[in-house]
Amino acid sequence: MCGIVAYVGDKDAFPILIKGLYRLEYRGYDSAGIALLNESLKIYKTRGKVADLENFMQDKDHKGKIGIAHTRWATHGEPNDINAHPHYSRTKKLAIIHNGIIENYGPLKEELISRGYRFTSDTDTEVLIHLIEDIRQNEGVDLPEAVRIALNQVIGAYAIVVISDDHPDMLVAARKGSPLVVGIGDNEYYLASDATPIVEHTKDVVYLDDEEIVTVKKGEKMLLKTIRNRVKTPYIQKLEFNLSALEKGGFEHFMLKEIYEQPRSIRDSMRGRLNARDGIVSLGGILDYEPKLLNTHRIIIIACGTSWHAALVGEYLLEELARIPVEVEYASEFRYRNPVIDETDIVIAVSQSGETADTLAAIELAREKGATILGICNVVGSSIARATHAGVYTHAGPEIGVASTKAFTAQVTILTLMALRLAIKKGTIETSRFQQIIDELEEIPRKVEETLNLDKEISSIAKIFTYARNFLYLGRGYNFPVALEGALKLKEISYIHAEGYPAAEMKHGPIALIDREMPVVVIATNRGPYDKVLTNIQEVKARKGKIIAIVTKGDKKVRELADYSIEIPETEELLVPLLATIPLQLIAYHIAVMRDCNVDQPRNLAKSVTVE
Ligand code: GLU
Repeated sequence: MCGIVAYVGDKDAFPILIKGLYRLEYRGYDSAGIALLNESLKIYKTRGKVADLENFMQDKDHKGKIGIAHTRWATHGEPNDINAHPHYSRTKKLAIIHNGIIENYGPLKEELISRGYRFTSDTDTEVLIHLIEDIRQNEGVDLPEAVRIALNQVIGAYAIVVISDDHPDMLVAARKGSPLVVGIGDNEYYLASDATPIVEHTKDVVYLDDEEIVTVKKGEKMLLKTIRNRVKTPYIQKLEFNLSALEKGGFEHFMLKEIYEQPRSIRDSMRGRLNARDGIVSLGGILDYEPKLLNTHRIIIIACGTSWHAALVGEYLLEELARIPVEVEYASEFRYRNPVIDETDIVIAVSQSGETADTLAAIELAREKGATILGICNVVGSSIARATHAGVYTHAGPEIGVASTKAFTAQVTILTLMALRLAIKKGTIETSRFQQIIDELEEIPRKVEETLNLDKEISSIAKIFTYARNFLYLGRGYNFPVALEGALKLKEISYIHAEGYPAAEMKHGPIALIDREMPVVVIATNRGPYDKVLTNIQEVKARKGKIIAIVTKGDKKVRELADYSIEIPETEELLVPLLATIPLQLIAYHIAVMRDCNVDQPRNLAKSVTVE
């Protein structure tokens, strides 16, 4: 998921690579490394920042006109020196850097171990370099061909670059699901995960497509083919100069970029866990605790902020599908209220950063009382990942914008998978219904993409309400936590006061606030308590409130009543949060931009709340 830079040419590679890594820092990472080839292939890598790597390399050999460099954002194995990339092959004649996730690394690793390979790291990546070397030796093929054959055995997402000490002027690279750009200089090539490390050296670039593999050799034309061995003609494009736009992938803010990444981050979170075709949902990380989960009398989910909203969706899912009683608690309350909890309890901690101080303290408390603690977090090796007995990573990729977006939908995705897995194992769901839901779950990334296409429309609605002083967000059932999350996003980044409420609760108080000045966002999708929400909308209309409704495509009844409607694709009621959240993120984003707020770093907020 993180950063790649590589170089081959007449210049010294080291300064180009280290500068390139600095350029990629904005992507977020936990360790960095470089391999340089000059007679032999040398690897230098370390946990921490690029500056730490540069320090560490100060008195080392920097020679080499070819090299590969990486910033890692751990998905498999803790962020430490050993797991950092590059990784050597067994003979140390090859090295690899990789962004992404090798989904089937488990079976590949077993196979290689049975053939005598030893693994030094915990990464999925190391499997690939052993596999490439194995193919090279056993099938007597050249390096590009060995890489190609290996990639045909890989399921997952990757951008990779391979270097070999047999080829002091050649690099082999490939991509699938993780970007890779080739820069063409004068008698030289650059490779990188985006153009930021390349732009100061050359403007001629080729963007690789999925399943393409490229061989670049100093002084020769690049060779581009698909992993199915079809030769292709590279399409050379001219780069426009604008570094900061490049860093944000052309988006104005990280938050917007991350909102747009959701089709991918949801897919990555399901990768290797959902196999709709064969009707399988599995969560390897908590497999050992599955018997306990299946027999537990209740689950307590602890979290803060946006993660707490994801936890609420989780409560609805786990109770409906797996019929397990769930309590959702603010970690900050839980830790101080002497909760009744013992060794029969299962506590699930949800946190994006894995460093949330209140959640950590709540985990400690539950642990002392003997409960089994599971985690759902986005950062491998984080404090929460270490403090829990087992857990599931969200694989949303680094989130830079302070207001959480893609981490939320990734957390909901994991909780959905967990509820489905427990339900099918417990027998609380019919197989046909299970299949129906997972087929639909697989469609969700595409439907998120469709929802993102409404951005222009949403932005013009947002414009009308830029100067509102208050907002109300209403939803029922699965859409109640969505309403809470929508209101929180708006508060966080636009500084407009907003409240999320269960739609029916409105009449017990907040209805007093409604007048023609009050925008009310109602999530009124067609499944579940649709008619009840309709009544709630009428109550708002009768008091002249302005309704912005999130409805299902083709809806008529709500549209007639609402002042503005945003139509999202139809889906299962229990999957609606994954779609309905998207327009709410976009409303908050556009209003904040129009109010000239600092979207990525809102006042008074921190990305990971490591204080009480
Ligand atoms: N899955 C690989 C690892 O954990 C690569 C992670 C990345 O994209 O940085 O090492």
